Amino acid sequence: MNLFNFIKSNLPIADVISEHITLKPAGTYMKGSCPFHSEKTGSFTVSPHRDIFYCFGCHESGDVIGFIAKLENCTQIEAAKLLTERYNLQPPEELLKETPTTETLDKKKKYFQLCELVTEWCHKTLLKSSKAMDYLTDRGFTSDTIKTYSIGYFPGGQRSIKSLTSFIQKEGFIALDLMNANILQEGKKTLYSPFEERIIFPITDNIGQFCAFGGRVFLPHDDRPKYYNSKENPFFTKGSILFGLNIAKRAIQSSNYIILVEGYTDCIALRQYGYQNTVATLGTACTPEHLTILSRYADVLYVLYDGDSAGQKAILRLTESCWNVNMELKVIGLSSQEDPASFLMQGGSLKPLIEQAHGIVDFFIQHSSSDFSQKTLKQKLETVHKIIDIIRQIPDQLKRDMVLQETAVTLNVPFDTLAKELRKAHQKQRPVDPADNANENEPAPNKWTIEDKFFSSLIVLFEKIDIAKYTFAIELLNSPIKQLLQLLIEKKKNNPELTFREFWSTLDKDSQQEVTKRVLSFNQQVLKEDFELILNKFSKKHWKNIVANTKQKIKVAQENNDSQQVTLLLRNMQDLKEKFITTDKSE
Ligand SMILES: [Zn+2]
Repeated sequence: MNLFNFIKSNLPIADVISEHITLKPAGTYMKGSCPFHSEKTGSFTVSPHRDIFYCFGCHESGDVIGFIAKLENCTQIEAAKLLTERYNLQPPEELLKETPTTETLDKKKKYFQLCELVTEWCHKTLLKSSKAMDYLTDRGFTSDTIKTYSIGYFPGGQRSIKSLTSFIQKEGFIALDLMNANILQEGKKTLYSPFEERIIFPITDNIGQFCAFGGRVFLPHDDRPKYYNSKENPFFTKGSILFGLNIAKRAIQSSNYIILVEGYTDCIALRQYGYQNTVATLGTACTPEHLTILSRYADVLYVLYDGDSAGQKAILRLTESCWNVNMELKVIGLSSQEDPASFLMQGGSLKPLIEQAHGIVDFFIQHSSSDFSQKTLKQKLETVHKIIDIIRQIPDQLKRDMVLQETAVTLNVPFDTLAKELRKAHQKQRPVDPADNANENEPAPNKWTIEDKFFSSLIVLFEKIDIAKYTFAIELLNSPIKQLLQLLIEKKKNNPELTFREFWSTLDKDSQQEVTKRVLSFNQQVLKEDFELILNKFSKKHWKNIVANTKQKIKVAQENNDSQQVTLLLRNMQDLKEKFITTDKSE
């Protein structure tokens, strides 16, 4: 047992991957949207029984450690360490001692650790400050919310800076670390923090590691900008982080929809009102990357932005970047004076609004065609072209026609005229995304050669069958499966108890990918009977060679006076022959 096998036997692969994408059962596997390439069809496949994953779109494959290594862009050893820490696994001391130390990940780990300490300090400070607590209570924050989001308070003044510095020193950090993390800055004579006298909203990455802070002013007459957010750094990029995702994840996965708001205070308010599947961008536009991340967790996204014109413009911008994600976007409409938090506080209910929510395309068309009849001809043409440009990106033909029909009615323009415009626009063609055809790369089992089927069923069943009996097949196969079968038979001979996981982990990267692809694209529930049929077809096809090879081996065995081997070879050949005689009869 080494550290890798320890982790794999203690950590179900589906549990870890579910933190990053929503997996849905598909037979004996689980499927979801690939986190490593952008796709519309879920090509990412996980085998919980075999502890491996494979993407039929981008061919990325591996085990749970490989998954984290790829995702975090780190080495396997670093990934293994991350997993043991994150899931609080306690590997035996001797396994840890054998594992080399890692330096590259240390910086990142230290940064997260520092942010966690700052969070802890601010949270403790908040609980002791009546003015900050009063402010939050007045604004309707419950103590449960304050705890769930680890909300804090950063008091002003040198005493506060000293208190924080000595708090982090206990864990081996120094003031310079806080400066590097942009939590403290150098003033003329002393250190100060831009977060002073602000309510602190700690920001976590999508798996819950503290990585940044949002600070909001709250004292009367504080005329600094309302919000101050951590600056971006190598471990924190706003364009890929969604506030509250880690907390909302379970609710999102069970409801299969997400509510997206514009800032953390709206997100927190929605959760307090029972909408636990809410996330927020960090006061910035929702990027295609945000959408891609969200599409891994649910099928529908409800956009709930402020009712004012800035909010509406942000939704219109979203229409342009939503085509490459495998998710339906709907818009929850608020009146122009409302924002999500105020709407809920005044007793509004989102439920009917969610039910009435329109698709983002409808929203776009309604919005761009308002006052259409009052527009000049030039403006009318511009509007039509703008709408056509959006419609043409709808991937589904039927849906495209339906939206076109609606547009025709809304604008009072003949359908045929619009259809002609659409065809013209189509000739400009959008570039083909290779990932669109992801599933075409999936080797269809019915196109498989009998050799492929034979090898894959051996791999799938190898814990249940006496694989040594199939040694004869090695020379009938081509590489790479030839070498893989040879290796498998050898390993099983040395260790009859060999499990799939152990076999897999001894292979090099290419062989792992080869085996993973075959296991995951082959029907995993190959029954022994199926195998018999495959075996018969395989041996019939290669019968001449099997006979010739066996004769050759018998000759060698006879020369060595190995009568036992001669008997075994003859019996195996007889077995094969008998089998296909009986299946011939039954056919
Ligand atoms: Zn992929």
